[in-house]
Amino acid sequence: MVTRQLAISCERSSPIRNSPKAATDLAGLDDEYCVDGNYTAGEPGSVDLTINTNRATLKWGKFVDPGTPVPTGSGTCAGYNQGTKPAGWDDNQDVGLFEGGSTMNTGIFRPVINCRMRSNSPPYCPVCYTSFSALSTFSNTASPRWREDDLGGARQRAHK
Ligand SMILES: [Zn+2]
Repeated sequence: MVTRQLAISCERSSPIRNSPKAATDLAGLDDEYCVDGNYTAGEPGSVDLTINTNRATLKWGKFVDPGTPVPTGSGTCAGYNQGTKPAGWDDNQDVGLFEGGSTMNTGIFRPVINCRMRSNSPPYCPVCYTSFSALSTFSNTASPRWREDDLGGARQRAHK
């Protein structure tokens, strides 16, 4: 997921936060949508996907409310199906552990039901957003003139 070429992601007119392609390359994110299949590989390096279902060691565990079941959704491209979805639950902003992501239906988990890394309309989920925030050069509306060494540094920080 971080092996793609940088140059094609860096149109100056295209703010980073509006481009899931750039997000994938620069912030260590990967696609959260499901198409088919069962994921059988190891723990992904991306910040927004995991195979770990242990709350204590979940990489985005700090975003999960203690009252939220982990996993929160089990089965093919799951929504909230482990207990009753709380009133006021936000499918984009409330974080749990939902099966399906990286184009696979099962065997891998994403942080929220629906993130910008899953479909084209919603904002980024808190896990993805925080990954951007770690990239201090990426302000909301700036159109910086990217340099290769800036991008390399940003990528390293994102993977801490
Ligand atoms: Zn996300």
